[in-house]
Amino acid sequence: MEQTRILGARKRIALVAHDNKKKELIDWVVYNKTALSRHELLATGTTGRLIEEALDRSVKKLLSGPLGGDQQIGALIAEGQVDVLVFFWDPMEAQPHDPDIKALLRLAVTWNIPFACDRATADFLLTSPLMHEAYTCSIPDYSTYIKREMK
Ligand code: PGA
Repeated sequence: MEQTRILGARKRIALVAHDNKKKELIDWVVYNKTALSRHELLATGTTGRLIEEALDRSVKKLLSGPLGGDQQIGALIAEGQVDVLVFFWDPMEAQPHDPDIKALLRLAVTWNIPFACDRATADFLLTSPLMHEAYTCSIPDYSTYIKREMK
């Protein structure tokens, strides 16, 4: 039977930006302050602090990315506690936590949540009518993987 998850009208949006991308993300959140006010925000530590300062609103802050924040967001996606991911990762610089970044992107796809890794996609995502209404998100059928593990 198909599994689904409801992404509510008020989305839980996780935000992460690498150091060279933080300014771009802050510009984006400031530009979209009104649209984002309809949603709940959570972020990795430093990104979250900068968003709080820029938007003058509270953001749920996790650990800093290199200390496990990306993994925390991945776990929240797997638990169905994050609806949308905006992750401005840096394509020009290796990060100490590269494996965590790959894991986070993998979980976003695993659980079929909408996610944006650049500003243009983030613009398309935030202006989608689906951002402001409940959306039934289908979860791929992983039962064969689970059965294979149990053999
Ligand atoms: P930060 O983490 O928001 O704490 O800088 C982001 C990251 O590098 O993944």
